[in-house]
Amino acid sequence: MGATPTETGRRQALLRALPSIDELLVHEQIAALGRTVARPLLVEACRRAVGAVREQILAGAELAFDPVLVSRQIEVLTRPHLRPVLNATGVVLHTNLGRAPLSSRAVERIASIARGYCNLELDLDEGERGSRYAHVVELLCALTGAEDALVVNNCAAATLLTLGALAQGRAVIVSRGELVEIGGGFRVPDVMRQSGCQLVEVGTTNRTRVADYEAALSPETGLLLKVHRSNFAVVGFTEEATTAELASLGRAKGVPLFEDLGSGALVPLHGEGLTSEPTVRSVIDAGADVVAFSGDKLLGGPQAGIVVGRRALIALLAKHPLNRALRIDKLTVAALEATLEHYRDGADFEIPARALLSTPLPELEARAQRLARALAAGNVTSRVVATTSRVGGGSMPLASPPSFAVAVKGPAVALHDALRAGDPAVVARICDDELWFDVRCLTEADCHAVATRVADVIRGDPC
Ligand SMILES: *Cc1c(COP(=O)(O)O)cnc(C)c1O
Repeated sequence: MGATPTETGRRQALLRALPSIDELLVHEQIAALGRTVARPLLVEACRRAVGAVREQILAGAELAFDPVLVSRQIEVLTRPHLRPVLNATGVVLHTNLGRAPLSSRAVERIASIARGYCNLELDLDEGERGSRYAHVVELLCALTGAEDALVVNNCAAATLLTLGALAQGRAVIVSRGELVEIGGGFRVPDVMRQSGCQLVEVGTTNRTRVADYEAALSPETGLLLKVHRSNFAVVGFTEEATTAELASLGRAKGVPLFEDLGSGALVPLHGEGLTSEPTVRSVIDAGADVVAFSGDKLLGGPQAGIVVGRRALIALLAKHPLNRALRIDKLTVAALEATLEHYRDGADFEIPARALLSTPLPELEARAQRLARALAAGNVTSRVVATTSRVGGGSMPLASPPSFAVAVKGPAVALHDALRAGDPAVVARICDDELWFDVRCLTEADCHAVATRVADVIRGDPC
């Protein structure tokens, strides 16, 4: 659409009236800001504020410059880049939103360790050099029944290290139904190549029997690999070799069995709509020699890759040069130890990710109703709707825990964009032209913050 001559004239006048950066810097209100903000930051904030208004004028808006826009820009420029997000997606282990939220105990432990020095690699009883893993090995062994344990950066690293340390230059047998992509382009065949292992695929996509592995065994075989289907499912005409069958084949032939369990639950997780997931202990009991799993999936702790299994094999992993490159830091050790203590104490419900997955449905419905009332108090119309959440993070692909959401009508995309960009950021789900706020991962305080932000955005208040 072209502007009429009078519109063009008005626009030119508005653009001419915009202050220069030099004028702004000596403006009383902005000079005052300069006492608490470094000059380069102030200059940048002025540039952005004027630039934003210029763009709006060019787009047809009739507005004049307001110095308060500079303080808004300073807020945006100085707030942390990594910041909390209110998760209204209903996806509990959302990888893009940082996966498992930590328990208060884990958070406090991190803070107490981060503030000063600690015995990360010092044996306080003997006064000698200790191992950074010693703090969690006993707990991990007690909780899984394994002989020994090691922790690295994440489960992808654990898989890479295990293959490299136990089967470099040798053949690894795996089912064609388990040559999976775990996410972010991390594919089993590629990891094999990286680790210097030779991939030997057996069976078919839907059916693989223990006899297929047996037929593929040779003097070159270094490892039998089983990869848990944690982010997809195969249904219909299917068959797979069990851990117990593979373990017994491996024992008979002197080849260890490595199981990449991925989401790895330490204890069974019950909740409406959840599917069953093998526990790490069940896989160790079935005879797997080494098992790898993530710390921030169903375990509900910090990002980590945990390997448990036979002492002699874990010792090979510990000695491998990759282990040094993949090692965890003291904050991860702190959070992991604190998280494992909840399991030791039989109190896994204190772990947020697990509690969120087993919240009773009536509680979710009542929470959704409270959110709808809080929205109504801010003059926002909404309705409570039944929905299903997801476990996320590549865990329990078929699980669909029933939940409740609050649906807000409107230009859903624009509303969502504004909610994401503001503070606190809110991420929800677009459903047709409605924005749905699944309440599963929102606390009562979060619900109030969401209601306030939605009302502010709809009223036209930017933050
Ligand atoms: C998730 C997953 C991984 C990768 O775990 P990260 O901790 O995300 O690195 C590896 N293997 C399986 C089977 C998984 O499910």
